[in-house]
Amino acid sequence: MIIPVRRFAATCALSALGVALAACGAPGTPQAARPGQPASASAAPSRPPTLAPGPAGLTPVFTNGPRTPDKTVALTFDADMTADEGPRAADGEHFDNPRLIATLRAFKVPATVFMTGRWADEYPEEAKDIGQDPLFEIANHSYSHYAFTDNCYGLPTVPEDRMRADVEQAYTAFKKAGVRNAMPYFRFPGGCYDQKALRTLSSVGVTAVQWDVVSGDAFATDADAVARQVLQGVKPGSVVVMHCTRSAAPTTEEALRTIVPELRKQGYRFVKVSELIGTAAHPDH
Ligand SMILES: [Zn+2]
Repeated sequence: MIIPVRRFAATCALSALGVALAACGAPGTPQAARPGQPASASAAPSRPPTLAPGPAGLTPVFTNGPRTPDKTVALTFDADMTADEGPRAADGEHFDNPRLIATLRAFKVPATVFMTGRWADEYPEEAKDIGQDPLFEIANHSYSHYAFTDNCYGLPTVPEDRMRADVEQAYTAFKKAGVRNAMPYFRFPGGCYDQKALRTLSSVGVTAVQWDVVSGDAFATDADAVARQVLQGVKPGSVVVMHCTRSAAPTTEEALRTIVPELRKQGYRFVKVSELIGTAAHPDH
């Protein structure tokens, strides 16, 4: 989400294990046939969990998982890059954050990265690297990081007749980079949406993913303050929004070094968004 005044960064997200492993498996990996199930069906890749459409078929919106004693939390990282920021990247500004990804790997923390298509075009090798690692899943944060409503923190606006194409263009960019774990989840730039945007995207088949914990990492200069804000906000089932963009969120990696061990000490298990959505969609499983 990242939104403070004038400069915008992107957002990415994190999620959990089970479901995503199936979704991230090598294409065509055979699965054991179940009794009564035709072999051809058993070989079909399983679909990542999504929420059922809202009233009148509107795109469903997910904010957090169940507040159950099973203490799960999803760290999500927005990979923001606005369509017109290419010249800044060419001038040496870093919209990526490889060290952050390395730290998540070192801590073995599953995560969901909400990536813009523009970011994948700028950093195809990194997109592919994240997009082929079963520890992570990539979700859609639009192609251009333009807002889907008016008056969204000063972001330029995507016209209604371009909204669907913008989301699809991001998936195309992921595919071109070699991403294998793209999920049918979409985070609105700036978190801004309205009924019109939800209606317009209803045919895309995505679940919109918001959050219940703002890390405050955008343009933060104090990693401890970011860590404190996250630790104070997290509840079972929480979705935390952070960023994997060095220039716009320079303290995030350092904050994680406090957040991860502390939440684990409190009994939390890190999961990807897909696991939280799977639990919310099928509470009996
Ligand atoms: Zn963003």
